[in-house]
Amino acid sequence: MAGSERDFDVIVVGGGGGGLAAATVAAAEGARVLVVDADKKLGGSTSLSTGVFYAAGTSVQRMLGIEDNPADQYRYYMNVNQHKLEASVVHRLCHDSGPTLEWLLSLGVEFKPGDLYCSGVDGIPRGHMAAGHGASIAAALEGSFTGKTVDVVLNTRVQELLVEGGRVAGIQTADGPVRAGAVVISTGGFGNNRRMLAELYPDAARQGDAAWYIGSKHSKGDGLNMGRAVGADIAGYNRGLLLLTTGFVQELESHLPGWLVYVNREGRRFVDEYTEYSVLAEVLREQLAGECFAIFDEATRATAKAPNCPNWTPDRLDHFIKSKQINSAPTLAELADLVGVRAETLATTIENYNADCDAGQDTWFFKEKKWLQAVRKPPFFAAPIRPQVVCWTGTGLRIDREARVLNKADRHIAGLFAAGEATGGMFGECYAAGGASIGNAVTYGRVAGRNAARFAGH
Ligand SMILES: Cc1cc2nc3c(=O)[nH]c(=O)nc-3n(C[C@H](O)[C@H](O)[C@H](O)COP(=O)(O)OP(=O)(O)OC[C@H]3O[C@@H](n4cnc5c(N)ncnc54)[C@H](O)[C@@H]3O)c2cc1C
Repeated sequence: MAGSERDFDVIVVGGGGGGLAAATVAAAEGARVLVVDADKKLGGSTSLSTGVFYAAGTSVQRMLGIEDNPADQYRYYMNVNQHKLEASVVHRLCHDSGPTLEWLLSLGVEFKPGDLYCSGVDGIPRGHMAAGHGASIAAALEGSFTGKTVDVVLNTRVQELLVEGGRVAGIQTADGPVRAGAVVISTGGFGNNRRMLAELYPDAARQGDAAWYIGSKHSKGDGLNMGRAVGADIAGYNRGLLLLTTGFVQELESHLPGWLVYVNREGRRFVDEYTEYSVLAEVLREQLAGECFAIFDEATRATAKAPNCPNWTPDRLDHFIKSKQINSAPTLAELADLVGVRAETLATTIENYNADCDAGQDTWFFKEKKWLQAVRKPPFFAAPIRPQVVCWTGTGLRIDREARVLNKADRHIAGLFAAGEATGGMFGECYAAGGASIGNAVTYGRVAGRNAARFAGH
């Protein structure tokens, strides 16, 4: 695929949600597009995802009579992160995500009204779940450029941009340079690169080898490094989404059972245990040693069940107790000593919790009544909980609201655009809402594709 003149108008490096959207829109602008992906198929983490898309003012909301608009979405998004975000980039994300969802609907992705929900800590239903999950979003996008002017090359990892005449003019490959009028970097995040986690996401790196990443194995931060090599600035630091886990098995559990009682090393509860996954890791980070223990008793173990938690059944728990992944002791005091929690405080915590269970009201953290199960019957159990699941990373190339990659002087790097997890600046300490990551990838993929095509002369 090497050449000496311009081989394509636009090269898209990485064909997940962001790259596929960019390619579709660039082709619609009349550009000849090349999509290069390291994997043997397109889709990236997008196709592995749950497929929730965060958007306001959509036809799906209107079907349910929900009045909503992007201005309110923007206000919520900024407030929940104390405005420590790239405001203009987030502003566009919020204003364009509704139209982008309509575009996905027009491409055949189904977002059923019945699956709309309040995602994250948001109070308005903006989480649109794609029927068929993320794979259906990727498939619809891939299908949308079939027959158009888009070439796809798979199994090809790009690691270097071509710079000529003071602008990004293509990519370097093992076969030589491939030239284009503009390049879009949409290579996803760096969850599968421990060195980059240590450099840019210390909260994840702190978990050491116990942390595991659940996205595409090609999320190695190549796009970020390619950008840096041509002078790009980085936005956001220590950003991404960590999920809490006991680490029994390396499976995704977005919620652990609500009947667990989390206590920190001081022996105190510190949160409604069924709080949204989008903020729990951040709450745990503030606790001593950044960890806690999930406490329960034999009565709960013997009857354990919880939605979407296949490992929390009586037999599975028995197995983890025998394998010592769950600590067990005949009294709470012995359990506290065993795991290194302050015993006197734990006794008070459980006393208060049990009294609340009897009264049917959590007067400390206001957890829903249905989860209140007293901790009385020995033996007692404690499972360590840590934020060890790396879901996605949110530190990346700094872009402006036109998806142009910026250098440290805030100037555009001519010919270079980026979208999705490869970019940074739109995520804070609190993940505003499940669905904002795919929303970001596809929304900015469209912006990047359109502007790259225009920059290339279309
Ligand atoms: C299990 C799971 C569930 C999730 N659920 C949701 C959800 O419901 N809602 C939500 O908003 N977010 C969710 N996320 C996060 C979300 O899926 C991603 O953040 C988003 O899809 C990223 O899109 P992207 O286009 O930036 O990257 P990706 O979809 O990861 O695409 C990147 C592509 O680049 C390719 N690539 C990488 N390096 C190179 C290279 N050097 N050369 C060529 N190609 C390369 C990869 O192979 C990949 O195809 C989830 C993530 C996971 C893992």
